[in-house]
Amino acid sequence: MSDCIFCKIIAGEIPSTKVYEDDKILAFNDINPMAPVHVIFIPKEHICCADKIDETNSHIVAHIFEIIPKVAKDLGIDDGYRVVTNCKEPAGQTVFHLHFHLLGGKVLNTDIS
Ligand code: AMP
Ligand code: ZN
Repeated sequence: MSDCIFCKIIAGEIPSTKVYEDDKILAFNDINPMAPVHVIFIPKEHICCADKIDETNSHIVAHIFEIIPKVAKDLGIDDGYRVVTNCKEPAGQTVFHLHFHLLGGKVLNTDIS
């Protein structure tokens, strides 16, 4: 999608610090980290948000969740981490390309308000 910043990152039009990439997904460091480790996982296919996960694309989401433990181990946070997705504006979504935040490297606040 032409005006989507995460599609532009996939296309190499916006730089990112890549952490993991394969034919289906990309993971890169968040530009505004909320924890010592803050990695964004995205499908290469543009999906706006978690609300649009369905039987045609859920295999990509499953793949992301297979890769997350490997990346967490590589980054040394497999003792404990959080995976979050914000779906639509009231939940805090600011980039409308489905993504999962991987957060770790410190004791995380459990206040999710
Ligand atoms: P959300 O608020 O859940 O939509 O998360 C969007 C995330 O994308 C935020 O944590 C931003 O800091 C991050 N972000 C936005 N632009 C970039 C970028 N160019 N490179 C890396 N992370 C970004
Ligand atoms: Zn996109």
